[in-house]
Amino acid sequence: MKKLEEKIQTIGEVRDGNVLKVDSFLNHQVDPELMDDMAVAFMEYFKDKKVTKIVTIETSGIAPSLFLAKRLGVPMVFMKKGVSTTLCKDALCTEVFSFTKNRTYSLYADASFFNEDDHVLLIDDFLANGEACVGALRLLEKTKVTIEGIGIVIEKSFQPGRSRLEEMGHDICSLARIQAFEDGQVVFQKADQ
Ligand code: 5GP
Repeated sequence: MKKLEEKIQTIGEVRDGNVLKVDSFLNHQVDPELMDDMAVAFMEYFKDKKVTKIVTIETSGIAPSLFLAKRLGVPMVFMKKGVSTTLCKDALCTEVFSFTKNRTYSLYADASFFNEDDHVLLIDDFLANGEACVGALRLLEKTKVTIEGIGIVIEKSFQPGRSRLEEMGHDICSLARIQAFEDGQVVFQKADQ
């Protein structure tokens, strides 16, 4: 997605440890126009899929997911990274290791928001080693929904996340695919949409 690549190129910051900082439009401040354009791009890629629910992981998956859910006219469920007082006591739970934060966290979802007739698009902000997506899929497996595809805003294609998900048989749409970081600059490869 050209507009997203330009935004990454002009205001993204490459940090130590192959981390891309995009706090100014995705991870802290959010650009609603860009989120809506991304929703259109995801819709175009997944146009032949029957989707009844968008699922994401808090926090940074929520903004792009909500715009997509609104356009598709379906609910959006975000998996929670901690227990809250309102979360039901028999919520589904799985453990996920975060390489960027170097710690394990628990991912929760209320099973009552899913049923076996649901056709889900899983959306996340970044795909790196694939731990977050694989964890979310592990949790969704317990709900018997059908996974129609995975939508990623920024994929770091030099890390193994995409191949892990492809090996599991998933259809992946990444709007920006980063081939490498070279001298503090982002080198893109062809995106899926
Ligand atoms: P994975 O689980 O695929 O290794 O990493 C995905 C998660 O880690 C994303 O949901 C995102 O929160 C975070 N992440 C991974 N790489 C980056 C990065 O380069 N920049 C930012 N901002 N977050 C990242």
